[in-house]
Amino acid sequence: MTRFALISVSDKTGVVDFARALTEMGISILSTGGTAELLAQNGIAVTEVADYTGFPEMLDGRVKTLHPKVHGGILARRDLDSHTTAIASQGISTIDMVVVNLYPFQQTIAAPECTLEDAVENIDIGGPAMLRSAAKNYRDVTVICDPADYAQVLQEMKNNGGALTENSRFDLARKTFFHTAQYDGAIANYLSSLGEDKEHTARSFYPRTLNLHFEKVQEMRYGENPHQSAAFYRERSVPHGTLADYTQLQGKELSYNNISDADAAWECVKTFDEPACVIIKHANPCGVAVGNDPKDAYERALQTDPEAAFGGIIAFNRELDKNAAEEASKLFVEVLIAPAFSPEARAIFSGKKNVRLLEIPLGKDLNEYEVKRVGGGLLLQSPDATNIAVPDLKVVTKKQPDNRAMQDMLFAWRVAKFVKSNAIVFCRDGMTLAIGAGQMSRVDAARTAVMKAKNAGLSLAGTAVASDAFFPFRDGLDIVANAGATSIIQPGGSIRDQEIIDAADERGLTMAFTAIRHFRH
Ligand code: 5GP
Repeated sequence: MTRFALISVSDKTGVVDFARALTEMGISILSTGGTAELLAQNGIAVTEVADYTGFPEMLDGRVKTLHPKVHGGILARRDLDSHTTAIASQGISTIDMVVVNLYPFQQTIAAPECTLEDAVENIDIGGPAMLRSAAKNYRDVTVICDPADYAQVLQEMKNNGGALTENSRFDLARKTFFHTAQYDGAIANYLSSLGEDKEHTARSFYPRTLNLHFEKVQEMRYGENPHQSAAFYRERSVPHGTLADYTQLQGKELSYNNISDADAAWECVKTFDEPACVIIKHANPCGVAVGNDPKDAYERALQTDPEAAFGGIIAFNRELDKNAAEEASKLFVEVLIAPAFSPEARAIFSGKKNVRLLEIPLGKDLNEYEVKRVGGGLLLQSPDATNIAVPDLKVVTKKQPDNRAMQDMLFAWRVAKFVKSNAIVFCRDGMTLAIGAGQMSRVDAARTAVMKAKNAGLSLAGTAVASDAFFPFRDGLDIVANAGATSIIQPGGSIRDQEIIDAADERGLTMAFTAIRHFRH
């Protein structure tokens, strides 16, 4: 039975209703200054911790609950006579529930004008101490660190004679230690990101030591290969519209490769404003197109490499409607991703139980940073967030691009960003026609793309070609020109740029430099 609850919260969401429900169950409430005041204003009977301990809150709230009458009451084991007699002899009552959320440290440091002093004052001391005491003693104490849990806790108490089951208390304790670890991690990251001039608000994006906190979503049957084990973890606050924001509507459990490829497909399709479709195999696009509607975009994307698209992952940036679903259901696919699926589309796939349907809200948020694991270490970088437009291009050839060539070049460039290096991408009229991916030399990426177009029976006449980094020699350019390309988009920046520009002029091509490179490994 719960008899005493201690409530001390900075985020006061839902606390009045929760406290009222507790009192209605006959539970007495202890509370700190601001929380006690709010509860009393709302007609809830509450005892201030200071009155209970006989010790006033002091040092501007730095010391409120750090008292043996509080921590003894939380930490005492109810199953040990030595503990119960020890607290009784000091006039300490047991505290059976601790409801605490902490000073908003993360929100405070997120403000650009936050000073070191602001940050330090927002390091909660007594709150984590109570949370940790209660979580440690989960066998006897319920700990709640998140207002989102109030409703469920009340429900369970009502169903279970006024107390939670030990399993639930253990779950809450686990969540609490994750929460306090994350809180301390945020403090450590913040402090280690300060420069020499600590008072200065400027901070390094990359702290000297790094604490990362991710929650497990699932364990997979295996990893990239069947002999590897694997799991998927999600950030505490997932950027809106990124892969981890997914809802799976149907289909088998997602595999390691599914998640990795789905991410590539979704990140690519998100960048288009028009209805678009992206088909991914082994983390590389094997067809990307825009169209009048999802079906049109899909049919065009499929043309690039129908062979490779078998068993692929397909993403749309529009609701998947009946027409597109009918077409896509003819292909063997692993995963379909869209911001929404129409009821007709759902019905079409309901007969294909294995196909995984993922709904992800369209959003432009990006990861704060990208992470790559290396032996014994971790590489962090900001995401490749650039998207270029016409004014960013520098045309370097005598021949100027017409509007159509310009649009084709920009489309090809958008796709090239999502193709593993070295990447060569041929496009025309808003669709890819050939993609050369992941080659160790640029000239081989060009050869691969041309060979694949030939296999697919596609003409490359009048295409725009994107190269994710500069052409080091003219050979790659000659290959794409021989295949029929008429415009080229590439970063430029080679010591042989002039030689490449001369070659483009000689071949009658138009070429634009982006000054931005899109390596992707
Ligand atoms: P209130 O608004 O009730 O005055 O304060 C609630 C906040 O105080 C909660 O975020 C809680 O974690 C925090 N808190 C409770 N006890 C102490 C303490 O002894 N020291 C500090 N620094 N914070 C405390």
